[in-house]
Parts: sequence; C-alpha cells; structure tokens
Amino acid sequence: MNLHEYQSKEILASYGVRIQRGFVANNVEEAVEAADKLKELTGSEGWVVKAQVHAGGRGKGGGVKFSPNYDKLKENAQNIIGMRLVTPQTSVEGKLVNSVLVAEDVYYPGETETKEFYVSILLDRALGKNTVVYSTEGGMDIEHVAEVTPHLIHKEVIDPTLGLQGFQARKIAFNLGLSGDSFKEFVKFIDSLYKAYVGIDASLFEINPVLKTSDNKIVAVDAKVTLDDNSLFRHKDLAALRDTREEDPMDVEAGEAGLNFVKLDGNVACMVNGAGLAMATMDIIKLSGGNPANFLDVGGTADAQRVQTAFGIILRDPNVKAILINIFGGIVRCDRVAQGVVDAYKAMGSLPVPLIVRLQGTNAVEAKQLIDDAGLPIHSAITLEEAANKVSEVLA
Ligand code: GDP
Ligand code: MN
Repeated sequence: MNLHEYQSKEILASYGVRIQRGFVANNVEEAVEAADKLKELTGSEGWVVKAQVHAGGRGKGGGVKFSPNYDKLKENAQNIIGMRLVTPQTSVEGKLVNSVLVAEDVYYPGETETKEFYVSILLDRALGKNTVVYSTEGGMDIEHVAEVTPHLIHKEVIDPTLGLQGFQARKIAFNLGLSGDSFKEFVKFIDSLYKAYVGIDASLFEINPVLKTSDNKIVAVDAKVTLDDNSLFRHKDLAALRDTREEDPMDVEAGEAGLNFVKLDGNVACMVNGAGLAMATMDIIKLSGGNPANFLDVGGTADAQRVQTAFGIILRDPNVKAILINIFGGIVRCDRVAQGVVDAYKAMGSLPVPLIVRLQGTNAVEAKQLIDDAGLPIHSAITLEEAANKVSEVLA
C-alpha cells in the first residue's frame, strides 16, 4: 500500500525525522489557511504547492510550483487541484489531483550552499535484508543516475538483528561528503529514518531529495512510503490512510472481496485457489495457445458469492474470450465448489464467454457430474490436460 507525501511526512516527523513542514489542502481556501499557518511558523512568505498523487516525477509534470506570495499561491492551488497530472510515472491520461500539500520553502533564495541527496531504504529480497541506497545525485531521476553514473550510487546492507549501526550511519554521511554540523545532523536523520522504516513495517522509503540547507540542517523534502500489506493487520491506524481513489477500481473491488487479483493483458481469464496453482494455470493457458488475462486467487473458499464477484471483475475486461476455473479440492470439497459455480452461473443468467471448469481432488467425480447435470453450457474437466484441450477448442 502506498501513502501520499503528506501522510509519509507526518509519520517521518513522528519518528523525529526533520521534514519540510506543510499542511494538506483540498481547495484554495484551505491552501490559504495552510499558508497562514506556515507563515506563523517560519515568519516569512513563500511556499511550494505540491500535487498529492501516488506517482513520482510530479515536478516535471507541473505538479510542484513555487509560490512567492499569496496571489501566486492561490493561482497555483487553483490550477493544480482538479488537474490531471501527467508525469513520467503515470499513464498518458494522468492522475486526478484531489489535494495539494502546501509546504514551507526550504530552498532559501540565492543560496548556493544547499545540496540535494538521494536516500532510500528498501528490502533487498535476494539478500533478505533491508538496504539503504543513497547518492550525492539527489533531486533528479535516480534511474537516470543509475544508468549514466552507476558508481555514484552506494548501498549499505543492514543486519536485521543489529539494525542500522552507528558506523554505518557515519559511513553514509561521509560518502555524501558531509562534515561538521551537517554530518551530525545526517547521522541523526538516517538513524530516525531507519527506526521509522522498521517501526511501520515499510517495504520502501524513498526520500528524493534529502536537502542539506545552507544552515546545515538535513531535511526530507519529498517522501514516498510503501507499506507491507501483510503487516497492515497490526497497523490499523496506517491501514486507515489508504486512498482508494489512487488505485485501480478493479483491484479495490477484488481486495474488498478478499480476492488476490492482478490484471494482465491476455484473453483467457482464470479463477484458481492458491497462488502456486494460479501460476501453473497461467502456464497451462499459455501452452493451450491463449494468454492469461489475469491472476486470480479466490483463496480457501469458493462459494457462490465469491465466484460471482470474481466473474463480475473478470468480465469487465473486454479482452476476455474464455474463463478457466481450476480448483483443487483439498480442504474444500470439489462438489461444494461445483455447486457454487453452478449457483453463481444461474444468478448471472448467462456468461458472454465460454466457461471451462476443472475440479480435481476430494469428490472430483461427483463435482463433474453435478456440473454436467446442471444443464448449463459449462465445459467440465477433471484432468489438467482435458481442461487445456478445452481452452484450445473454445479459442479456435
Ligand atoms: P517529485 O517531482 O514528485 O519527485 O516531487 P518533489 O517533492 O521531489 O519536488 C520536485 C522538486 O521541487 C524538487 O526536486 C525541488 O527542486 C523542488 N522543490 C521542492 N520543495 C521546494 C522548496 O521548498 N522550494 C523550492 N524553491 N523548490 C522546491
Ligand atoms: Mn522527489
């Protein structure tokens, strides 16, 4: 689950990470209120208005605007709220901007002493360890830096039992070319940042840029946080920060129904129990001459309600030419699944594409009989080979 910049920054601040302060606003009036509050804190005018969408590269797309006075602030808030922001990380249609973060200006005018760094923390799955990735080349596209000057990107692997150690924090600060006060500030910064990462069970923190101000403060100017979905059960407060407007409506519906769903580009939809079987089923679809239209794991229960919800989600994709249900009845009996499929089919009246159902395991023979006796145009199968052949047949 991804968070907005303003949400990410609030969390970082609560762990003692210094951030560029700001307030979120949903309209121009709220933007002015936010600016007033910041003026009280900083004693000066000059703010940045930043589009809050789940995509990076907002600056390039015109979603981050410096506003030296109230007139500019209102104009920028007016223009950004409600716009469809297109960035290198969005589709061509862009993302609708529902709110902006009005933030203090931390780049003091005329300053030459500021420096932008790149800092991220992520889980290196191959090593099974959290890793700090950092670079002196902050503020820009890190993919570009990685391509052109890979030697400027450094990594520090963290031992999970020891956490980020003092010498590692100092090594990072040293490699970023810091000294004196900014060195000490950075060591505190990265230490708090790592504690926040572990504390909220994140799988990614990306702070680009981390700014060294002319008075040697280290500030998170941007913040991208991805939380580990599997940890949300123990972070109810964080789970509540989810903004479903940023997500694909199909994914949201599937999530609410407890289905593991990933949309793909092919023509054969599948409905399977268990991720491993889902992967194997996608291979079978490929071998039968089709292409998987989705990955869908219905989990342990495949009752009529769930199957019907799954049909609804699958059929919204106009590319789907056939549906393959492939379920192994271990704990759940095949005849019960078959009944669920038949009930769901009847409830829907008809399906616009052929349906192939392969049930194997406990009571597989009874299940096939149940489907064949239902008098519905469902192709039933017991072996995977039969199912694959039927997929080829209906696609031909
Ligand atoms: P991104 O484009 O989505 O990564 O958004 P960022 O939050 O990184 O902002 C983009 C750029 O806006 C930064 O790299 C800065 O150059 C600029 N920016 C951000 N905050 C300030 C600020 O307080 N003052 C000024 N003048 N520029 C800022
Ligand atoms: Mn950024």
